[in-house]
Amino acid sequence: GFNCGIVGLPNVGKSTLFNALTSTQAAEAANYPFCTIEPNTGRVGVPDPRLDRLAAIAGSAKVVATQLEFVDIAGLVRGASKGEGLGNQFLANIRETDAVLHVLRCFEGEVTHVEGSVDPVRDAEIVDTELMLADLEGLERRVQTAAKRAKGGDKDAKAEIELMERALVVLREGKPARTVALSADEREPFRRLALLTSKPVLYVCNVAEDEAATGNAHSARVAEMAKAQGAEAVVISAAIESELAQLSAEEKQEFLASIGLEEPGLNKVIRAGYKLLGLLTFFTVGPKEARAWTVRAGAAAPEAAAEIHSDIQRGFIKAETIDYDSFVALGGEQGAKDAGKMRQEGKDYVVRDGDIFHFRFNV
Ligand code: GDP
Repeated sequence: GFNCGIVGLPNVGKSTLFNALTSTQAAEAANYPFCTIEPNTGRVGVPDPRLDRLAAIAGSAKVVATQLEFVDIAGLVRGASKGEGLGNQFLANIRETDAVLHVLRCFEGEVTHVEGSVDPVRDAEIVDTELMLADLEGLERRVQTAAKRAKGGDKDAKAEIELMERALVVLREGKPARTVALSADEREPFRRLALLTSKPVLYVCNVAEDEAATGNAHSARVAEMAKAQGAEAVVISAAIESELAQLSAEEKQEFLASIGLEEPGLNKVIRAGYKLLGLLTFFTVGPKEARAWTVRAGAAAPEAAAEIHSDIQRGFIKAETIDYDSFVALGGEQGAKDAGKMRQEGKDYVVRDGDIFHFRFNV
């Protein structure tokens, strides 16, 4: 599966957000630092109106959304790269995530702030600096060991050193490793370096309850910062999201309307996380079940099949494929088939977002 790690300074609202996301109280929210000690992992359904549309057309008895994993990562403080606070554990946990949701406190109020005042741009810099320092120190060590391997005749080591040196150049300038310009061929080996600052980042501005629809001056500064970095930012109120998470679907709509929101902020977070990870959705649709599945962008049909079952990938013959728009416009599978909109795709077919598949395979 793919996952997003939720990071940020203590008391910015990470656990509140995580709890709202998973609608559980697994991660305890409390008004003091270091309350989130173990990484908490939760899976959430990815909201997708297309799935409901497909299910309605096919009269599917069951609807199953695709899921995305979120990990609530223990709070980090200034000095984490030197082992302060829960520094080492934090760094190890973040290394295992595919993308980072960086929660920034943009709400004023009584809650204790570890830095003494509300300033999300400063907070972002504190976290980024710790991550960059950790990458820098790690890389300096690794370049040396790789140099020994290169001397010993290891051919891969040379290419690895070259990539590491390029990351070191930007890190020494105080910029995250994700700003290194990479060719298509270099992306995968670079990803394998598993640098903390090479992961894609979404800034999540946690604003006060009455600012969820509008944002505030703090979140506006974050938006500016994100833009300058080529990153994305979303505005939510974690407190509101945790209230929403307790409500029935009807109550939710009423509450949302009363505060000027069209949908829960969490939907924005989930969709942005999905986009950040470079994922896309395909569907399987029948009378029993309409289901959304996740695969990485660029995957070929057999890799999509493997999401359903490894046997389908192993025995893969072809993928009968209908695009979403045709399926909807032509009233479902039969209509699409009659109109010649069902394509027979082979093992090299690259999956497109919204494809509806029937896989044919040998057992
Ligand atoms: P974490 O340490 O980053 O996981 O932060 P928590 O989620 O535990 O939140 C710390 C404190 O801030 C708790 O007392 C929360 O109730 C409070 N808090 C979180 N989000 C909001 C918010 O949007 N508005 C307000 N007023 N308080 C919040």
